[in-house]
Amino acid sequence: MTANCILERVTETKSTNDDLLVRWRAGELIDPVARIAHKQTAGKGRAGRAWLANPEDSLCFSLAFPFKRTPSELSGLSLLVGLAVIVGIAQACDLSEAELQAAGLHLKWPNDLLLNNGKLGGILIEGGQAKAGDPTWMIIGIGINLRNAEMIAANLDSGIKINSLSLLTIGAPDIEYLWLKIIASLEHHLAEFDLQGFKSYKDRWMNWDAYRDQSVCISGAGKDPVYGIAKGVDETGALLLQQDNKIVAIHAGDVSLRIQS
Ligand code: ATP
Repeated sequence: MTANCILERVTETKSTNDDLLVRWRAGELIDPVARIAHKQTAGKGRAGRAWLANPEDSLCFSLAFPFKRTPSELSGLSLLVGLAVIVGIAQACDLSEAELQAAGLHLKWPNDLLLNNGKLGGILIEGGQAKAGDPTWMIIGIGINLRNAEMIAANLDSGIKINSLSLLTIGAPDIEYLWLKIIASLEHHLAEFDLQGFKSYKDRWMNWDAYRDQSVCISGAGKDPVYGIAKGVDETGALLLQQDNKIVAIHAGDVSLRIQS
């Protein structure tokens, strides 16, 4: 697989997602664009949370991709992106998906990659449809820790466990090589997703689910926390929670999943 989209490399920017969002809003995007920054000075996660990255130790890039689907038909997109990133990591590290699973790689609903229960990467999706009939442009931001996870953890006040790809391969893969493998995988998966939606990826996603059958708490979006046993996802990518004898579906918005010990 090789990348077909326009590739842009910059030494420094605030946020590659913001750069591409500005161009989308100005009507300047025509073909898919992947933009990588050596250094992001204001990398962001969801809801304005910060994404920290040291140049050399992190892969941070955004891909602007046009979908024929309307925004409401893109449910499950962040889950599909997680699957596509895993394929790219497997290729770049020359490891099989079984080897990655054995090493503790998982997906955390709706938008994180975990390695050995530590956060390895995050996915931030923004964008939309300017007007009816236009393509839906989604700006997909991806941050992956390559090495020196302890330096990132030391600068986070959340106290969460952080891991990096150097746990998988000695020295972690070359940033450029990993970037190109992930983009090529994303282009392939996103084109397929545009045709068939999340449904056909559901079972594949469940194979990587970090918290299946575990007690979890869903919080955020200004609502009361919701507790239950995680039961994977449905065909729209909604998280299924078992509560007593019923199953409730939680749709991704700005909600966070936490394990209940
Ligand atoms: P949650 O874990 O609550 O679901 P989230 O997945 O929505 O959060 P994001 O908003 O995507 O998290 O990412 C921002 C959060 O990720 C920050 O609040 C911080 O805790 C954590 N974080 C920031 N930089 C890194 C990094 N390089 N590696 C791992 N985690 C990071």
